[in-house]
Amino acid sequence: RQAAAIVREQAAAWDRVVVVVSAMSGVTDALVRGARTAAAGDGETYGAIAAELRARHRDVVGALPSLDGEGAALLADVDGVLDAFATFCRSVHVLGEATPRAMDAISSLGERLSAGILAALLRRQGCPSQAVDARQLVVTDDAFQGAVPLLDETRAAVARRLLPLLEGGTVPVVTGFLGANRQGVTTTLGRGGSDCSAAILGVAAGADEVWIWTDVNGVMSADPRLVAAARTVPCLSYAEVGELAYFGARVLHPRTIRPVVEHGIPLWVKNTFDPACPGTRIVAGPESTPGTVKAVTAIEGLSMVTVEGRGMLGVPGIAARTFAAVAGQGASVLMISQASSEQSISFVVPGAAVAPVVRAVEGEMARELARRDVDRVWSLDDVTIVTAVGAGMRATPGVAHRIFGALARAGINVVAIAQGSECSLSLLLAAADARQAVRRIHEEVIEP
Ligand code: ASP
Ligand code: MG
Repeated sequence: RQAAAIVREQAAAWDRVVVVVSAMSGVTDALVRGARTAAAGDGETYGAIAAELRARHRDVVGALPSLDGEGAALLADVDGVLDAFATFCRSVHVLGEATPRAMDAISSLGERLSAGILAALLRRQGCPSQAVDARQLVVTDDAFQGAVPLLDETRAAVARRLLPLLEGGTVPVVTGFLGANRQGVTTTLGRGGSDCSAAILGVAAGADEVWIWTDVNGVMSADPRLVAAARTVPCLSYAEVGELAYFGARVLHPRTIRPVVEHGIPLWVKNTFDPACPGTRIVAGPESTPGTVKAVTAIEGLSMVTVEGRGMLGVPGIAARTFAAVAGQGASVLMISQASSEQSISFVVPGAAVAPVVRAVEGEMARELARRDVDRVWSLDDVTIVTAVGAGMRATPGVAHRIFGALARAGINVVAIAQGSECSLSLLLAAADARQAVRRIHEEVIEP
């Protein structure tokens, strides 16, 4: 109801509005769990999940009494989608595997349910609306579970199928998260992909603005569960959003906003449950007061790997080979630091990747290790990266001093430091210190 109220308000305020929806909370997780358990030989769980989801969606439909006659048709749709879920899971169970393609067919069903319900509610409330299956609009490559939309094809499909609805005064409610490849096979854009759907449809439809409605007041200056005084950041540049997303803040994925950035379309992040709060505006260029830090974030569950040896000094290629070995394990590197003595290289990877990464680097350096040019490859576990983000630290002396001062006063030791873009400063800390560090930086550097 809240979502419908927002749509009606915006539909009255703007000439044309396209709505993109996610699945209801927890639904995609449940669908994925159904598929995984079925693949693992469990022939029962998916049936229970189907029953649970059926009950939940039926409850929602039932709680919207204004649906009247539409209610029965909608319930039939809900049943149809969940029957498909059970059928897909049964096949997965028989085959004993859930291929990426099967996972997409299954995990995309939640959006099909939510779009139908919202469109029906809008219609009943007097707002002409129609659910649109994104497989008719969003054309993607074949990378199941992380497909990339193809802009030209998508633009053509939008012109054919979406613009006429808008011209006719209808508010389309498009399923987020999913699309189809050129052959029409269902794909998904990766978890959390509805934002990405909104961005690509915004570009393809030539939107004036794209608004992302979430469940918090825009992008916050810190995780509100950690910092009670966390507040909405009024404006962020694309670069700052990228830093925040990379360093663990659950904001927009930079990939999501890229098409919007490139086309200079303003983007807002707003709160469904507090629509009056202006939220966060995301703009292309930097927009900052010199010396200010906007947000602080932490990414947990990491390990630092160090390659060290006196024989590395002045030897070209050690870094290239090290990182090639890391890449070979499919691990992403979150932070790198090398002392100018060239006697060690340290980098941070997710904790789950550390054992294979150390083995791979040792394998790559086998000769150097035997010759003692490299002394050892080792890891420090249970570390957290705490990152302060703000373009205001660019070219302003003293920001790092304030950050380090805040940590020093709390007696927190810094293991390693990296400053990349000059709009973020990352500190590697023992996991046990991270929460306290976030609070101190917020209190002493962001709040004033
Ligand atoms: N429903 C999908 C997910 O949970 C997409 C989204 O929520 O953006 O990943
Ligand atoms: Mg979601």
